[in-house]
Amino acid sequence: MDKNTRICIIGGGPAGLSAGMYLEKKGYENYTILERLDRVGGKCWSPHFNGRRYEMGAIMGAPSYYAVHDVEEFCGITHDGPQLSRKYKDQKGHIIEPFDPKKNPLKIPRLLKMKKQVKKFGELLETKYKGYDLNGHRGVAEGRYEGCSQQNADREPVSGENPNLKDLALPFSEFCRINGVELVQDIWVGPFTSFGYGYFDEIPAAYVLKYLDFQTCMNFVKINLWTWKEGTQYIWEQLNEHLKNPARLNSAIEKVERKDGKVYVTVNGEVEEYDKIIVTAPLYIPDKRADGQVGMVDYFDTREDERELFSKIDYERYDVMAIETTKKHHPEISYYVFDNMKRERIGHLMVYYRRWKDSVDQVITTYALRKHKDMPEVPYDVCKTRVLKDLWTMKNPAKKLVNEWSVYYFPHVFSEDYAAGWYDKVEGMQGKYDTFYAGEIMSFGDMDETAEYSRELVERFF
Ligand SMILES: Cc1cc2nc3c(=O)[nH]c(=O)nc-3n(C[C@H](O)[C@H](O)[C@H](O)COP(=O)(O)OP(=O)(O)OC[C@H]3O[C@@H](n4cnc5c(N)ncnc54)[C@H](O)[C@@H]3O)c2cc1C
Repeated sequence: MDKNTRICIIGGGPAGLSAGMYLEKKGYENYTILERLDRVGGKCWSPHFNGRRYEMGAIMGAPSYYAVHDVEEFCGITHDGPQLSRKYKDQKGHIIEPFDPKKNPLKIPRLLKMKKQVKKFGELLETKYKGYDLNGHRGVAEGRYEGCSQQNADREPVSGENPNLKDLALPFSEFCRINGVELVQDIWVGPFTSFGYGYFDEIPAAYVLKYLDFQTCMNFVKINLWTWKEGTQYIWEQLNEHLKNPARLNSAIEKVERKDGKVYVTVNGEVEEYDKIIVTAPLYIPDKRADGQVGMVDYFDTREDERELFSKIDYERYDVMAIETTKKHHPEISYYVFDNMKRERIGHLMVYYRRWKDSVDQVITTYALRKHKDMPEVPYDVCKTRVLKDLWTMKNPAKKLVNEWSVYYFPHVFSEDYAAGWYDKVEGMQGKYDTFYAGEIMSFGDMDETAEYSRELVERFF
């Protein structure tokens, strides 16, 4: 492609900003990033409170976050944030130690079995499911793998046939069942369901395992994780500052028309002309959202194939609150409540995060899910009331609500569409209509998978 190609990027979150960085590294400098909000970072949102930053969105990374590491190197920053730590409570607020055999003598047989299954799972993933952990979903439904190895920072291109990969379309609970490793769900659920990514009986195994590949999951278990002192938003603020063309904020896109090999974007009433467009913003939002966000199908001259495929996308309703407690009620550590990660306890508090160890004048953040594909959605206010009540039960009641949002979170498709080759169809449309699709739906809803997808997209098409 001509290095002077005029490229419009929609969205100033991790996917859009890293697309800018990788384009720039490859010699494309004629790109424009349009962001609808007055800040960059997207779901990496780190507001200030009492002189420090807390996290309303993304919190942590892992040593396998190679694309995020590319950004750190580009900007000369590092992961310098507070060490993560955690304990566990049951739904009644009692402290428990679910993985300690000494504290659970009756559970020893189950814990031993789980340990064995985790080992077996690691081996199966390496052998039977070779190629499972590549970024994105190309070929999976057809039993192929194609992409870049995520085993180390070199990310060498790899490809091959592996018919077993088709199993990844199954819901994760079913995937574990057919492989005789049901108990590994006790480990994987912590960094999956409580982090807002849905329930194992509804979400295809591909999403679970591309994010929580064996190594990354073990990093969660050992708390070998990264955080950033100024918050995850800082990573993307820094990247934005280091780009030749920083994102244009407050850019409300009213219309996009693609005709005669050009892309016409109407922004704040003005029409701008480009050659190509990369969409990292939501492709489809099935309901009317209070924050006014809409999918690309609502403001593009959407074609039939785009509408047909994108209308299969659903997303999680994941609610985050930042609350102040009294000094007396401030938790001494972050807590996970496994009881509340079951679908029967939808809309309850699953985790609360205490970021700063040395101070009680900071907020804690709470996390709840309120949607499952086969159940009625829990209304926002009902969920909020439940979570505040749960905090009382946990003996860490809120004194004041400081911040709250209901996030457009983790867009995905369900098993049937995954198995029917949804991803290969969308991948086959990359570049058609001078449009490229990136962001969370194309890989997974975390900082690194989205940034890595942008890297590979630039490698493949530009
Ligand atoms: C509570 C929470 C906790 C999380 N924890 C973690 C974690 O610990 N680790 C991790 O790696 N990830 C975590 N994530 C996920 C991570 O933040 C996202 O996956 C990542 O930010 C996705 O990047 P993106 O650029 O694809 O999308 P986004 O971050 O959503 O960015 C998209 C951008 O596009 C903009 N936009 C939307 N529509 C338009 C439009 N029409 N025109 C212009 N701009 C538009 C949006 O305003 C936004 O800035 C968490 C997210 C949340 C909400």
